[in-house]
Amino acid sequence: MGKELVVEALRPFGTSIFTEMSVLANTHGAINLSQGFPDFDGPMEIRARASDAILRGPNQYVLSHGIPALRRAVARKMKRFYGVEVDPETEVTVTSGATEGLCATLLGILEPGDEVILLEPCYDVYPPLSAMAHARIRYVSLEGPEFALPREELARTFGARTKAIIINNPQNPCCKVFSREELQFIGGLCAKHDAYAVGDEVYEHLVYDGGRHVTLLDVDGLRDRAFVISSTAKTFSMTGWKVGYVIAAPELSRAVRMSHQFITFCGQAPLQEAMAFAMGFPDAYYKGLLSDYVTRRDRLSGALSEMGFKVYAPQGTYYLIVDIRSLGFDDDVEFCRMLPGKAGVAAIPCSCFWNNRRRGRELVRFCFCKKDETLDEAIERLGKWFG
Ligand code: PMP
Ligand code: GLN
Repeated sequence: MGKELVVEALRPFGTSIFTEMSVLANTHGAINLSQGFPDFDGPMEIRARASDAILRGPNQYVLSHGIPALRRAVARKMKRFYGVEVDPETEVTVTSGATEGLCATLLGILEPGDEVILLEPCYDVYPPLSAMAHARIRYVSLEGPEFALPREELARTFGARTKAIIINNPQNPCCKVFSREELQFIGGLCAKHDAYAVGDEVYEHLVYDGGRHVTLLDVDGLRDRAFVISSTAKTFSMTGWKVGYVIAAPELSRAVRMSHQFITFCGQAPLQEAMAFAMGFPDAYYKGLLSDYVTRRDRLSGALSEMGFKVYAPQGTYYLIVDIRSLGFDDDVEFCRMLPGKAGVAAIPCSCFWNNRRRGRELVRFCFCKKDETLDEAIERLGKWFG
């Protein structure tokens, strides 16, 4: 006893903020607008497919890189939504959620001492995964209320040791959607420095106000330099299934598959089958998903604005952030630790998504992937406290 057992690389990281805030929400019986998961399940037909597959069997290991039907469905999706041709045999690897896809990618390509560029505020798993690969992290913060890409700083940060940059588009938690032009700028830097672009595109179908998602595989110069990681979690409202995938050129996919086979070996067979079916849903499904989220976004953002919060209009994802200074607060962590007990609602402090925790202290994230009645109840509770 007494000697720290946790490996050095992981020591700077505490319990995930999503766990901390969900536990706090449960302790206080608060409405959980912190951790991003829907309080409704995805379509019954998908669940019926999975349950048929379980009852019918086999319930055994499948090919390490995923069942052919799902890999083909991913390839069809890339053609259908982005016009990108993908070979399901050599370019798609099914993983246990996007999280494992990120892990397999980073552990498959990073050597100790390689540099990884992260754009802040960045999703919580990128720093620890990079650290586990013994990479050196270079942080670049997006700027101002628009979360603009600081091009000069980014160009200066790229160098001979840069192995990869992670681009989360749409970006959690700041809800930014990158333009094609911004992605082309990043693509140019990757080509110049012989670096890879790792795209986390799990919110690809949640882009608002006529914006369009641009996948890294469709950016000039990135077709053979990008790893595109996505997931069925948000698109089909089944975050507990953990069916994700990585799409990349054959040589790149080989690196992902190499590590993936020693992390989980393969994903969950019946759930892969059900998601292969789901991905072929007609356009009406995807349009309905988006329009339902527009309604939820407007409901929550309208109410928070009325309470006096400065709300940043999200360009994508199912989150929105508010500036708590407009209501006289200045410490997001304090605010979020107080909120479940005082107001009966939980949210996420955004400073956790910066390496320098002094940044983002004025920002708090609420998720709106909830039933109307849940959002209404949350609004009522917040209204009593702040109204
Ligand atoms: N990336 C981002 C940006 C996320 O917000 C999340 C959480 N939903 C994930 C990855 C994790 O996806 P999965 O549940 O498929 O592992
Ligand atoms: N992606 C979810 C969020 O941002 C959290 C997922 C998790 O708990 N790891 O809220």
